[in-house]
Amino acid sequence: LVQEAAETNLRSISPISRKPAKMRSKRRAYDFLIVGAGFAGAVLAERLANKGKHNVLVCDRRSHIAGNAYDFYNEHGVLVHKYGPHIFHTNSEMIFDYLSRFTAWRPYEHRVLADVEGKLLPIPINRTTLNGLYGLDLKDDDAAAQYLASKAEPMDRVRTSKDVVIAQVGLDLYRTFFEGYTRKQWGLDPSQLDKAVTARIPTRTNTDDRYFQDTFQAMPKEGYTKMFENMLDSDRIDIRLNTDFRDVRDEFPGTHIIFTGPIDEFFNYQYGRLPYRCLRFEHTTYDQRRILPVGVVNFPSEEIPYTRVTEFKHITGQVHPKTSVCHEYACSAGDPYYPIPRPENQELYNQYALLARSRSDVTFVGRLASYRYYNMDQVVGQALSTFKRFAARDTADHSS
Ligand code: FAD
Ligand code: UDP
Repeated sequence: LVQEAAETNLRSISPISRKPAKMRSKRRAYDFLIVGAGFAGAVLAERLANKGKHNVLVCDRRSHIAGNAYDFYNEHGVLVHKYGPHIFHTNSEMIFDYLSRFTAWRPYEHRVLADVEGKLLPIPINRTTLNGLYGLDLKDDDAAAQYLASKAEPMDRVRTSKDVVIAQVGLDLYRTFFEGYTRKQWGLDPSQLDKAVTARIPTRTNTDDRYFQDTFQAMPKEGYTKMFENMLDSDRIDIRLNTDFRDVRDEFPGTHIIFTGPIDEFFNYQYGRLPYRCLRFEHTTYDQRRILPVGVVNFPSEEIPYTRVTEFKHITGQVHPKTSVCHEYACSAGDPYYPIPRPENQELYNQYALLARSRSDVTFVGRLASYRYYNMDQVVGQALSTFKRFAARDTADHSS
């Protein structure tokens, strides 16, 4: 009850207030055909329509807008993220200000606990983690730093996701928190993955247990989908859902394409398939107010088949007598979710990128099209920069 009282009251957001995105499609002349209504596609559609005064058609093969950030009220009225937890965080004031045009925010600092044989410990590893795991009494940053230094195995060249962790915290903490989780999540040993993957998770000597330390950490007050509806609400933007690019590509010859799907798919896999990691999300609603102590609990043990469990009400702040959780299972077949950062995949992507550069009729933007492990704010930043390039070209065209 105390926890419930502390939550921001979002009762005012009823499922009824969530109108479906407009589905206009007047077959008028379009200046741009945007494939994908996720962050990359929606930001570009918004900028091109409202600032560039261009007519834009957005198509998405899914039945909804917002891409992987899509959220909705389930049959019990609980707001859930269909494709797993999406926590907004950024250090860029410019990106935060831009998105603030389309949403109010609910301040939210994400916290994650790792379940180590039933013990719940903060991840990223901090002083509380060390004391809790090993029964230590490290009293300050210096003591924790000394402890970690005594375990760390510094190396000349940090190359892989295994190296990064072992160089910072040593083998035991690596095995406890990273080895199993990473094997499950990526289907690869950390030694086979680029260092950038586990380098996303810092190590701390203080007791800060926030997952992120970014300047701006907040959730769209009425959810992501509502924010996307506001972004796409323009007379110059038409949207066609349940529509694959293949179904419309011949309808608009000469229209510039912005493609935000997998780049290898666009080029018919002519150099072979880029590997992506897939996920399965298992959503369950319980007839109780709370299940987890924090928004996400990670399960590093390989004996447990899922990687993490999310309880959405922590993240959305919704007050509701029921609660919904999502178990995430990683798999090798299905929709692509994560580009897999390792050198051979980057080389294959580089071949596609070269091909992309030879095509003046299409622009590739977003996580799947760039084959980069981008967070939402990075995709927004990439889309805004892409718009600036289009705008500069428009200006040059008009002045010549
Ligand atoms: P997407 O959101 O994937 O949108 C691309 C769209 O294109 C899709 O809707 C797809 O259906 C459509 N499409 C593709 N091909 C075609 C085609 N041929 N025809 C028609 N439509 C097509 N980021 C964070 O910042 N914080 C988080 O907490 C976070 N959590 C995440 C959790 C998970 C499980 C995942 C998978 C990602 C997470 N991310 C998070 C990353 C975030 O989802 C992405 O950065 C962001 O959604 C990428 O936006 P996008 O527009 O590039 O791609
Ligand atoms: N990771 C891990 N254990 C954890 C958390 C993360 O091994 O408890 C590793 C894992 O390889 C993961 C990567 O660090 O894929 C990045 O974690 P993050 O939480 O950023 O992943 P995402 O939210 O993008 O799935």
